[in-house]
Amino acid sequence: MSVDLPFFRYHPDPLASGSIRASAESCACCGRSTGWIYTATFYSAHEVSGRFCPWCIADGSAADRFEGEFTDSYGLDGVSDDVLHEVTRRTPGFHAWQDPHWLVHCHDAGAFVGEVGYTELAEHPEALDQLRADLRMDGCHDESQVERLLTHLGDGMTAMLFRCTDCGVHLAYADAS
Ligand SMILES: [Zn+2]
Ligand SMILES: [Zn+2]
Repeated sequence: MSVDLPFFRYHPDPLASGSIRASAESCACCGRSTGWIYTATFYSAHEVSGRFCPWCIADGSAADRFEGEFTDSYGLDGVSDDVLHEVTRRTPGFHAWQDPHWLVHCHDAGAFVGEVGYTELAEHPEALDQLRADLRMDGCHDESQVERLLTHLGDGMTAMLFRCTDCGVHLAYADAS
């Protein structure tokens, strides 16, 4: 399926992640029915009656008009204001149990790949190691418990996978229900 969606540097495949889906719904911002609709988070003090098309996300019009953000800026430390702006206001967010946030590497925001389980994560040992370190930091000191949690990803806890837009290394954080 080739789809002519706008390109999102920090969320290159929003169809795979489920943040954008095929739909006949019209966009709450431009009113057009583009065949695609955004399904994940948007934070705004204004009431928004409906959802947005990918184009109103990409050009920033949805975020401007409703003075909102698709993603909280939490975690986006050490990136330029332009990157911060692009991730929070011109990039589709994603579905997560906790408030979604972006990981940073090489002073740039990572590209969101998607929610993954242990098998996919195991292909990226560096991301797996990072998750192990996070779990230990969260007070999980029993190694067998750490491994048990990791191998049972998908069961009360999942991992959000990113890829560094600069060096290509994979990064992940754990999302728990
Ligand atoms: Zn629109
Ligand atoms: Zn990097």
